[in-house]
Amino acid sequence: MRYSALSLVADALGLAPRVPAWRSPAPKPAYDVVIVGGGGHGLATAWTLAATYGITNVAVLEKGYIGSGNVGRNTTIIRSNYLLEGNNPFYELSLRLWERLERDLNFNAMVSQRGVANLWHTDGQRDAFRRRGNAMRMHGVDAEMWDVAQVRARLPFLDFDNARFPVRGALVQPRGGTVRHDAVAWGYARAASALGVDIIPHCEVTAIRRDGDRVTGVETTRGDILCDRLALATAGHSSRSAEMAGIRLPIETHVLQAFVSEGLKPLIPNVITFGAGHFYVSQSDKGGLVFGGDIDGWNSYAQRGGLATVEHVVEAGVAMMPGLSRVKLLRGWGGVMDMSMDGSPIIDRALANLYLNAGWCYGGFKATPASGLCFAHLIATGAPHAVATQFRLDRFDRGAALDEKGAGPFPNLH
Ligand SMILES: Cc1cc2nc3c(=O)[nH]c(=O)nc-3n(C[C@H](O)[C@H](O)[C@H](O)COP(=O)(O)OP(=O)(O)OC[C@H]3O[C@@H](n4cnc5c(N)ncnc54)[C@H](O)[C@@H]3O)c2cc1C
Repeated sequence: MRYSALSLVADALGLAPRVPAWRSPAPKPAYDVVIVGGGGHGLATAWTLAATYGITNVAVLEKGYIGSGNVGRNTTIIRSNYLLEGNNPFYELSLRLWERLERDLNFNAMVSQRGVANLWHTDGQRDAFRRRGNAMRMHGVDAEMWDVAQVRARLPFLDFDNARFPVRGALVQPRGGTVRHDAVAWGYARAASALGVDIIPHCEVTAIRRDGDRVTGVETTRGDILCDRLALATAGHSSRSAEMAGIRLPIETHVLQAFVSEGLKPLIPNVITFGAGHFYVSQSDKGGLVFGGDIDGWNSYAQRGGLATVEHVVEAGVAMMPGLSRVKLLRGWGGVMDMSMDGSPIIDRALANLYLNAGWCYGGFKATPASGLCFAHLIATGAPHAVATQFRLDRFDRGAALDEKGAGPFPNLH
């Protein structure tokens, strides 16, 4: 069924049959490609394999329900405001794919290019942001520097006279914004399923079978499945999934929390990030302020965080925007992050027919469409996509870290 205004009216009047958005069949004994992880990256990869490369004998195995991982837990921010050459073209490709995603998938993902403003407070920060903005523009990416008067005109509720962090200006990417995260999972699942991909929830991979340098299949809670190629896209569980194939990854798992406030009238027009205190916020279409901050700072696989981080995030928020202290917090939740040692991802082949998609830290949502495209390209052709050539696993051996923030090999700082 094709979604349209007409189909919406027909549905509202009860004239159209209600069918599940995607099929969830029992697993077959064998597939050409098995993808482990039904998050955004796994689903986008499956859809691209089918839509672009005609590979449709594909299964996506998800241990929970579709969208139960980080794809449905993030703060929905998309942007391509990166400095390094290894990153910028990749994230810009992703932003371009977001711009046409709803047409590609025939699904309303509420892509909203409302702009992302990174606040700066000191001369040093201004210079660093100007450098990043210049690098973006040299890559053909939109970037603007707002002075304090421009920021004040648009975001009058910020604390411009804060003693520690007086707002002096902002680096802005007008094409950045937000996307309804669950809709991304649902849209990709529906579009992939329509092309013949089997989306299989509640199917945990418990072991990976190897024969020398080749993977032969997986053992799951719903039986054994053979495959020609195995692709791991398990985000916060990447090191555990790779371990099943005998591979140790330079990745640590940390919890990142997010929060939403009670619904308010329209207040925050774009995404605002306050790097000095580590706080970022946008307003959802329902009116809730959606915000987050630092990772919890210790290793955990629990999808919930600690109260100390709640306090830290809220403190940073109130420092940036004092009026926030009068807003009621509605909900908070956590997701498990695959923090790599340089803060950049891995899209690579690890064995003859085992492919890895991991290390997205807390920036992987914006990467979803390009990650799916590049991962599918690698699986289908055996060669890395042109914009993902620096996301190789061996960069840690070669000393060729892709350290966007210059924070070194400290996951808690990326
Ligand atoms: C609170 C929070 C805020 C964030 N904010 C942003 C943001 O604003 N912008 C941004 O770009 N990024 C953000 N991120 C990061 C982003 O959400 C992730 O990097 C990205 O979603 C990870 O890729 P994914 O969608 O494929 O992951 P997931 O949705 O986590 O998918 C991985 C799936 O693998 C499944 N799985 C794991 N092991 C197995 C197994 N053995 N068998 C079967 N299935 C398995 C898991 O259940 C999970 O569903 C945020 C993350 C969090 C938690």
